[in-house]
Amino acid sequence: MEESFVLRNATCVNGFTADFVVEEGILSKVTAAGSGRAQRIIDCSNVYVSSGWIDLHVHAFPTFDPYGDEIDEIGVKQGVTTIVDAGSCGADCMAELADSRERAKTNLFAFLNISRIGLSRVDELSDLAWLDQEKAVQTARAYKGFIVGLKARMSKSVVRDSGIKPLHIARSLSDATSLPLMVHIGSGPPAIEEIVPLLHKRDVITHYLHGKPNNLFDEEGKPLQVLLDASQRGVHLDVGHGTASFSFRIAEAAKRHGVPLHTISTDIYRGNRLNGPVYSMANVLSKFLHLGYTLEEVIAAVTMNAANWLQRPELGRIQVGDTANLTLFTVKNKPLTLFDSEGETRQAAKTIKAKGVVVNGEFIKC
Ligand SMILES: [Zn+2]
Repeated sequence: MEESFVLRNATCVNGFTADFVVEEGILSKVTAAGSGRAQRIIDCSNVYVSSGWIDLHVHAFPTFDPYGDEIDEIGVKQGVTTIVDAGSCGADCMAELADSRERAKTNLFAFLNISRIGLSRVDELSDLAWLDQEKAVQTARAYKGFIVGLKARMSKSVVRDSGIKPLHIARSLSDATSLPLMVHIGSGPPAIEEIVPLLHKRDVITHYLHGKPNNLFDEEGKPLQVLLDASQRGVHLDVGHGTASFSFRIAEAAKRHGVPLHTISTDIYRGNRLNGPVYSMANVLSKFLHLGYTLEEVIAAVTMNAANWLQRPELGRIQVGDTANLTLFTVKNKPLTLFDSEGETRQAAKTIKAKGVVVNGEFIKC
């Protein structure tokens, strides 16, 4: 690792411009633009700097198909310094996922799939015999700190005839491990009104802007009472864009009705990275900018909000003395066609593009 460098003339989303000096992996100084001293100067004029982007929902276990990808392809190479694998692995392959951190630059955390087989098949909750509670608890203990929650995918094609039962099992595993749940929602049954009331403060609903039947909004686009109640009691809302789970129509309704924006995540894996509609974190962020959220709100949803949910505030702030995890990006007045999961498009006037990261003190160009 180079000993020191300075990100010269970089601008924060609040408009503050400065030099950011990194020495031996640590953000050592934030000083007047042009005054930072280091062995290497990296010109960041007209470039934004934020704390490193965090993607709360990805699939980073490359051997699984279709839901898998290489860690750094969906991490540092697209401006994301921290990714959270959203239940690709259950107890059976968690050790392998944990070991893969050694071969990657990107910081990695994981949700443990409540099914021991994880996403080795896509109906992992259809046979309750795969929900080995003892093994799940042991695994959660063995990988404390790395595992940040439990994942239950509660939609028809995943649970088949198991109905709501996997969620009750997830709930008891949550009690046994003191880990929050991330619940994927989609087509029913189970009905959304049956799922959401079971979620507690700090549990996560991922795919909350999906546009399939059984979504969280009524015909007129008003948020359902179960969503308002959940948000009121501190349930966390996560985008989890994915191939099939983001609708402009629903996202516009959510914005119109003031549903809070907590975290923007991609649900990225090989297929939707290469062929869309996800492509990259920056592309998904451009969608939220187009929806009318401010740049500060959009960036907070991939930095501070995600870090706070992880209870790792240092990953979502810029503070002298911290290990340097930063993202460099541009926002250009450049038209861009955006695609959602329903085949709808929008024409954006502005494009967000990742330019580079500093991950654990190391500078990597995108
Ligand atoms: Zn996913």
